[in-house]
Amino acid sequence: MHQKLKINGDRFLVDLEALREFGKQGTGVIRPAFSPADIDSRRWLAEKFEDCGLTPRWDPAANLFGMPSQPGKPILIGSHSDSQPQGGWLDGAYGVVLALEVARTCQEAGGPPVAVVSFQDEESAFMPLTGSCFFSGKLSRDALYDLTNAAGQRYGDLASALSDLEEPETLTPGLFSAFLEAHIEQGPVLDQAGEIIGVVETIVGSRQFEVTIKGQQNHAGTTPMALRRDAVTGFSAFITNLEERFKEIATPRSVWTIGRVDVHPNAPSIVPGELNCSVQIRDGSSPQLDAMCEMIHKAAAQTAVERNLDISLLETKAVAPVDMDDGIVEQFCEAAESTAPGAWRRMPSGALHDAMNLAPQLPTGMIFVPSIGGISHAFEEDTQREHLVAGVQVMANTVARLAHQLGESG
Ligand SMILES: [Zn+2]
Repeated sequence: MHQKLKINGDRFLVDLEALREFGKQGTGVIRPAFSPADIDSRRWLAEKFEDCGLTPRWDPAANLFGMPSQPGKPILIGSHSDSQPQGGWLDGAYGVVLALEVARTCQEAGGPPVAVVSFQDEESAFMPLTGSCFFSGKLSRDALYDLTNAAGQRYGDLASALSDLEEPETLTPGLFSAFLEAHIEQGPVLDQAGEIIGVVETIVGSRQFEVTIKGQQNHAGTTPMALRRDAVTGFSAFITNLEERFKEIATPRSVWTIGRVDVHPNAPSIVPGELNCSVQIRDGSSPQLDAMCEMIHKAAAQTAVERNLDISLLETKAVAPVDMDDGIVEQFCEAAESTAPGAWRRMPSGALHDAMNLAPQLPTGMIFVPSIGGISHAFEEDTQREHLVAGVQVMANTVARLAHQLGESG
């Protein structure tokens, strides 16, 4: 039998509200990486670690770890505590304070060993998932330190502002036995279904194209309709062709977005000669992404013929889907069923998370709790308090199961 770990929900909520005070703005937070609020919150978190017997350690990226006192390879739990330039109070912060509560509970119970991490700059002030890119080995220290933010500040200079802290030691994924992350869903699925826990099976991948539609710029008064090569009406036809093809193959989890459009020369009396736009697709399955890419190419070719236009596609971004560890997914499912019977589901993550970077290095798993109204990256972001606490208990139960399993196999 694995031991029961009973978390303290009230204590967890007090700490979560305390973290909210750093950079608090109305109901939300403004706490981008290396802002004064971010640095103060990291120092606060390091103190919380010490209070419960975890040793604070900083790596060269200013990722903050709390290392347990018990012997053995710890399970690493965490997320990020930096925010978007205008962020909600739970995005990332929930997963960090949850990890603190689970680790603290384990410290009090005499094990299993659990370490906590707050990755730096998950929210892309420098690049997406910056801190976990460094920790997982995707990004070298030199490349990391040369990154600059929108204000032109170097990562290396900002990280050295924390140099009064313990001399950075090299912390690597090899020190840990698994990585677990909890996060708010940031979408409407759980909230609309009245469910409490989402067990993530896959973090979806994406592909992005730059589409250029070229026609003939001309006079809007003298060019007969039949002789026009109009990039904007061609764009409209392209969208129609694309949607028809996507509908043939899309699953409920496939999404596509044309989020940016530039028309040239963008003047009322000129038949537009050129249009550039982005097309982005996301799905949890690589074959499905391939099939959707094929549809984009076919829709472009079809439209070019129908409208006598030149249409070119340039793939500008490709991120592969990342599967979570099957064994951890099963453990999360069992823990979710015991804490929230019948009120949980398996689901993909449509957003990027630090767990993506850890998955190639460590057995990795992730859970969601609902976002009220599906709202995130906004000050209104919120979650029912009992749902927040349920997520902590599911994580603690999973740690107990996993530690038992790792102990048996190791
Ligand atoms: Zn986040």
